[in-house]
Amino acid sequence: MDKVDVIVLGAGASGLMCAATAAYRGRKVVVLDHANKAGKKILMSGGGRCNFTNMDAAPKHFLSDNPHFCISALHRYSAQDFVDLVDRHGLEYVEKAPGQLFCEHSAKDLLDILLTEVEWSGAELKLNTKIHQVECQEGKTLVKTSQGDFLCDSLVVATGGLSIPTMGATGFGYEIAQQIGHDILPTRASLVPITVQPDRKAQLAELSGIACDIAATAKGVTFQEPMLFTHRGVSGPSILQITNFWQPGESLSINIAPMLSLDDLMSIRQHSPKKSYEGFLSTLLPKRLVELIKTEFPWLTERSAQTSNEQIETLFGYLSNFDIAPNGTEGYRTAEVTLGGVNTKEVSSKTFESQKQPGVYFIGEVLDVTGWLGGYNFQWAWASGFCAGQYV
Ligand SMILES: Cc1cc2nc3c(=O)[nH]c(=O)nc-3n(C[C@H](O)[C@H](O)[C@H](O)COP(=O)(O)OP(=O)(O)OC[C@H]3O[C@@H](n4cnc5c(N)ncnc54)[C@H](O)[C@@H]3O)c2cc1C
Repeated sequence: MDKVDVIVLGAGASGLMCAATAAYRGRKVVVLDHANKAGKKILMSGGGRCNFTNMDAAPKHFLSDNPHFCISALHRYSAQDFVDLVDRHGLEYVEKAPGQLFCEHSAKDLLDILLTEVEWSGAELKLNTKIHQVECQEGKTLVKTSQGDFLCDSLVVATGGLSIPTMGATGFGYEIAQQIGHDILPTRASLVPITVQPDRKAQLAELSGIACDIAATAKGVTFQEPMLFTHRGVSGPSILQITNFWQPGESLSINIAPMLSLDDLMSIRQHSPKKSYEGFLSTLLPKRLVELIKTEFPWLTERSAQTSNEQIETLFGYLSNFDIAPNGTEGYRTAEVTLGGVNTKEVSSKTFESQKQPGVYFIGEVLDVTGWLGGYNFQWAWASGFCAGQYV
């Protein structure tokens, strides 16, 4: 049996960060992962270029049943701290949208930095390792694996959430948490495309591939960003963002012309009486979308002077509450994150140690902390991994 100070379960974003931080403190650390490669989600993230942090990351960008939990770690390990780390390794990166930092070339460059840190720190990485059993006994934890048994003082659960099972995601972290008496808050796929009802699907599929700026609103929260029509429904930043707030069966409002007020629409008649509403909408929306709207409002081709107030009001209602007939999401198969997870009320926000079982720690996405789209989820992985790494 191998005796070590720290076992980290999961060689993903938070696990690698935690392992290097703890090993730099002189702790003997081993990282165990069942996958054949470390950091698979890092490699596939941000379209292969990993949106590795957001310079504006603040507690308001995270959802949790216990919203105060993330404050301390985000403060102790900021986006700038992570940027300082990647700068030391000479990573080339770009700010693709305000605050959102992506690798200039490839997510692999970022993963290489983390693996270099793990190597320099002296932490040991064991891949292709199946975890059979975890037993807590007299202040120590025994982990039985396909590569033998390991005994440690501190066990860090960094096994992530349920999204993309084909990349190695499992609910193992939740099982360990439950085994030691933790409460798991209901989990659901998030930052995920929305599927639409079958009768609407055929119509919207005609628009597949086109994108437009929309405002998506659910539970009083609005995201004004692009939406993309797909063969299955809708996706794009605004849609992914809203799935952190919306769930099937609840109300979801999609405004496909958020830049337009009813007054703007009405004023077309006064300013351009000879112009058609079709012509006007074509300056704002993709052509194929205007074609679809025309099937509902054939009068769009007429001169605007001939339209009635009622027609314009109906058109405005149609645009500002565009019916996508949502019926669900694509689920964990394509989701970026898992909402819910280990209840943070039973975990220390300072050390990340379980309040149910001393010596066991939870970090990263397995916890009930979920960020918005835009680099926030990785920042949570780095911050929670770093902070726990100072105590394990
Ligand atoms: C397609 C996609 C794109 C994304 N893009 C971004 C982005 O650009 N920016 C951003 O901030 N976030 C992004 N995310 C979210 C981000 O990847 C996660 O929030 C982050 O990786 C969570 O880190 P973690 O360490 O908690 O878990 P993970 O990085 O998922 O690591 C968990 C590790 O545990 C291992 N593991 C799981 N179960 C077991 C088991 N039973 N035994 C042994 N090992 C196990 C896994 O193999 C994995 O290596 C994206 C996610 C996806 C799926």
